[in-house]
Amino acid sequence: MAENEIAPLYIGGEAIAQLCAFVENRYSGQCVIVVADSHTYIAAGEAVLQALRNAGISTQVITLPASGLRADESSLSRVLTRSPVESSVFIAVGSGTITDITRYVSYRLGVRFIAFPTAASVDGYASKGSPLVIDGIKRTYFAQPPEAIFADREVLAVAPPELTAAGFGDLLGKTTSIADWRLGTLVRDELFDEGIAMRVTAAVDRCLSVIDSIAQRDPKGLLTLFGSLTETGLCMIGFGDSQPASGSEHHVSHVWEMLTIKNQQSSQTALHGAQVGIATAFSARIYEKLRALNVTDVEKLFYNRLPLSRQNQEREIKMLFGDIGNIIVNEHKEYLELTDEQQLGIADRVIKCWPEIQKIATSVPRAESITRFLEAVGSPTDPYVLGMRPSDVDAGIRGGHYLRNRFTVAKLAHMMGILVDQ
Ligand SMILES: [Zn+2]
Repeated sequence: MAENEIAPLYIGGEAIAQLCAFVENRYSGQCVIVVADSHTYIAAGEAVLQALRNAGISTQVITLPASGLRADESSLSRVLTRSPVESSVFIAVGSGTITDITRYVSYRLGVRFIAFPTAASVDGYASKGSPLVIDGIKRTYFAQPPEAIFADREVLAVAPPELTAAGFGDLLGKTTSIADWRLGTLVRDELFDEGIAMRVTAAVDRCLSVIDSIAQRDPKGLLTLFGSLTETGLCMIGFGDSQPASGSEHHVSHVWEMLTIKNQQSSQTALHGAQVGIATAFSARIYEKLRALNVTDVEKLFYNRLPLSRQNQEREIKMLFGDIGNIIVNEHKEYLELTDEQQLGIADRVIKCWPEIQKIATSVPRAESITRFLEAVGSPTDPYVLGMRPSDVDAGIRGGHYLRNRFTVAKLAHMMGILVDQ
């Protein structure tokens, strides 16, 4: 079987029994490590462990404290140091954080892992990358996809409602990530795959068509949400990078998360999907601004704004990000080092492609609709309810585009001088 293949991808009832049968068949006589946090252990970990033991499988459990849990150096070393040398396979019983920690540690130990998700909260279960916070910076580290995924209908249905709402926010983010991907391809010749883009859009549409059922935490709606999130994760694997499911909205959320950690405002960072959902409305608002511009407006905006000075941009990065600013400057060289001619070349391309850019902008729901969708499933819509300082909220909005070397709608708006309302 190819290393990146996830089989089985089981979503339904009796998932623990399915998991046991799989492990018995493949890892009989070997030691299986179950990783959970103190909440997910109660939600499903204990039952998984018991079922494996009843089946005569040798197990060890590693439980991390749920409070303040992050995929960072401390969690990675906790799992690593408690892992027996003879481990054969890991089972991650938890939401995104536990899965990412387990994905990375198992990969570095050279063994596979199986995901047993406890909430439809993120798209990352199927991913092969682990977003980790190392030295205060969030980056996605290469790891491996799970060997198999077993998602249990009953477990998903009793997940904390805010986790499901966050999963919906993460999924809604695909409306702007797909548009950003198309934009980057059009203007900067970034790699693209139409088939994968269509699969992501179809996954979003499937969820929006059952939004009431998701809002009511009906098992059918939750399975659709989980299946759609997983599908977008598989799309990232299929493409080999995160563009299909992560654009400007994710960059904003990454800034918010990094600054919350840096400022140590709270031990618990807001949920990834909750941040992404709010940031999606922000990106959708930029697309709305683009829709209102004709090509003459665009020419004028570029004329007034370009070329951007490297010095000013570096100053802005350091002002927005404080002591992690230097790292961001270093990693954003591709854009910071654009010559005046290269910047004007991008502007020319945008002007030439304006009708197509308008078409992309029209494919994005209005910010107001994004907010309405979020409200319908009980996801937050105001960044301040996530406990952030106004300066951090602002840093995400102004500085998200500095985080990756990708041409997103936020980068375009930055180059046009319309990123924030003047
Ligand atoms: Zn995400």
